[in-house]
Amino acid sequence: MVNAETGTADIGVIGGSGFYSFLEDVTEVQVDTPYGAPSDSLFLGEIAGRRVAFLPRHGRGHHLPPHRINYRANLWALRSVGVRQVLGPCAVGGLRPEYGPGTLLVPDQLVDRTKARTQTYYDGETRSDGVEPNVVHLGFADPYCPEGRKAALAAARGRDWDPVDGGTLVVVEGPRFSTRAESRWHAAMGWSVVGMTGHPEAVLARELGLCYTTLTLVTDLDAGAEAGEGVNHGDVLKVFAANVDRLRSVLFDAVATLPATADRDCICVHALDGIHTGVDLP
Ligand SMILES: [Zn+2]
Repeated sequence: MVNAETGTADIGVIGGSGFYSFLEDVTEVQVDTPYGAPSDSLFLGEIAGRRVAFLPRHGRGHHLPPHRINYRANLWALRSVGVRQVLGPCAVGGLRPEYGPGTLLVPDQLVDRTKARTQTYYDGETRSDGVEPNVVHLGFADPYCPEGRKAALAAARGRDWDPVDGGTLVVVEGPRFSTRAESRWHAAMGWSVVGMTGHPEAVLARELGLCYTTLTLVTDLDAGAEAGEGVNHGDVLKVFAANVDRLRSVLFDAVATLPATADRDCICVHALDGIHTGVDLP
């Protein structure tokens, strides 16, 4: 384990614990933040010459349910080691029969149905270290990085995994799965997939000027899209395990093709242009 100052990265991956074991020569870095501790240490390594920081979203051993993840600390910790682009893969339920288990969908829109998660760094509330953030209302019409989406889609195609390009991810509070009525409603609204972790990760990344892209892996058909028993956790884990290797390959390829940090010129980089947040970013 090394001090945070000695480790740097420019790409962050927030995902399940199946990923960091594949980074070679991992350096474990413990980072504290003004918002408390992130889900776990950061694991720094290299993929195709890019410095990558991996953060297990649920902590090692998966002890944090989606609603107890400290999303603010996670994004802040990544930024503080130099990360400017983040890939956040997550497992989701399909809301249409054609989005069955094994589908890879790279959403371009998001609906937030979480209920009790802190969604902003700029809430006007004085931090424990005395910093006084302003109240900020950020544009969020397009929640995902267009460059990151391109890299993710190209990486999937390169691995013969025909991805769904675009769609709406609805994020629910959990930890329970949806009722049939909720699921039918989500589908009737035209939304594509449902998950529990993609938000507020996306908006907090934007608030820090980070590029954020999510890749969703469908592990089950959500309750309304399925005639049978509804979702059960065992099936979700099974489908995830069956696809984790190729998802990892896609992520690695995407990392390799993301724009160099210095070349970024997307909406994410300019999200805070002209806005006085009162907070110095790490
Ligand atoms: Zn971007």
